[in-house]
Amino acid sequence: MKKIVAKFGGSNLKKKEDIQKLVRVIKAYDRPMVIVVSAFYGITNHLIKSMDEVKKDESNIEKLMHFLRDLKKEAIIENFDDKEWQDKTLYGVQSRIKELSRYLTGIHYIGDVPEFVEDVILSYGERLSSYVLTSILQSKGIDVEEALPEQMPLITDGEFGNATVNFERSADNVKKRLSGNKIYVVPGFYGVSEKGKVTLLGRGGSDYSAAALARCLEAESLDVWKDVDGFMSADPKLVKQPQRITHLSYSEAAELSYFGASILHPRTVEPLKEVGIPIHIGNIDSFTDSVEPRTIVHATETVTDCIIKSVTYSDDFCMLKLRGAGVGLKKGVLAKVTVALDRAGINIKSVITSQIVINLMLSAKDIKRAYKLVENLGLSAITEIVATEQISTIAVVGEGLLDKPGVAGRVFTSLAKQGINIQMIVSGASAVATYFMVARDDRDAAIDAIHTEFFN
Ligand code: ASP
Ligand code: MG
Repeated sequence: MKKIVAKFGGSNLKKKEDIQKLVRVIKAYDRPMVIVVSAFYGITNHLIKSMDEVKKDESNIEKLMHFLRDLKKEAIIENFDDKEWQDKTLYGVQSRIKELSRYLTGIHYIGDVPEFVEDVILSYGERLSSYVLTSILQSKGIDVEEALPEQMPLITDGEFGNATVNFERSADNVKKRLSGNKIYVVPGFYGVSEKGKVTLLGRGGSDYSAAALARCLEAESLDVWKDVDGFMSADPKLVKQPQRITHLSYSEAAELSYFGASILHPRTVEPLKEVGIPIHIGNIDSFTDSVEPRTIVHATETVTDCIIKSVTYSDDFCMLKLRGAGVGLKKGVLAKVTVALDRAGINIKSVITSQIVINLMLSAKDIKRAYKLVENLGLSAITEIVATEQISTIAVVGEGLLDKPGVAGRVFTSLAKQGINIQMIVSGASAVATYFMVARDDRDAAIDAIHTEFFN
């Protein structure tokens, strides 16, 4: 029987009683499977902050250990009836926290956080969740074992902080380690390099871990559990009658995730698309007793009557404009700029050029640094650099977008009617997505206008 990989994220682990919901879902599957867990909600951010504090003051190590222990203790007391299991689990948690404290002591004494240590420290959010969940399931008499990525090993390309899984090198290891007729709980968010060093899979990377394991196992499906109703036609907070999308193609899901729909991490689709493993998205808050998905992402590409399936946005596409009379024609300008940004670890989300301007779309956290880097290159072709942060990128997504005339026209007419100015439009780069930028203040009105035009 093929395995199912199910992933539970930080949003499923906010309150101490949330674990009971997870247990109910896992019981409803009633079959051997692989479960991937994230850290408890907010814990990764907390660990990041603590690393900095620990560097300055050793007493912060104790503080962090207490904080983590109390948090887990609450969850443990809430979820175990049996005192013996409570003590046993608390003891296990305590020794994992102690392991973590050794790394923290190290960074305090050297006064720095080497990349390879940072990745280990941040993996502890997930290691603690997986330990606690395993123990809770075991206490209920379920046949469960924790499986750590380093025990498989799940091998990555070795890039600290943002690694990519090497499927060829990992598949047999994963199949072998997870071959038993039982449930395995795996901490998400990391794999290990060829040399055995822990490498994180990027922020929010547990979805990607789960996808990678599903791919290695040739799983029946990847089931991602959320606390919302799957993919919607728009953010329910912004429009009057949001509609649930029952089916999406891989490309549609990838573009929606890239442009801000926070249902899946943008990298989740990539390992599964090539091999056709479907992604099922479930809502843990509306779960009764069936593991029926709310949205299915699969290979079938359906073109609906209104073409557009969803309109989404991201506030994390900032624009760096490099102006100069001949930047478009002059050879090597773009190459020099992109090499400099790449060396500084800055990702370019999109490039749109013309004869007199190169527009780079960058994450908000990188824009100031990128400005300085380009300025320091001192390229004579670039006469002015402008950074624009207060913009939002809106994407309309649907199969058939480029094939049917009039869709873009309807989008932009609906905005014009509301007096919304569009700063830039990109169409044709993706067969299923058209995106454009508006002033941040116009974002909500723009989404509502488009949604009303296509869905109401
Ligand atoms: N805990 C990690 C993060 O916050 C990974 C994840 O949540 O998927 O980035
Ligand atoms: Mg997450």
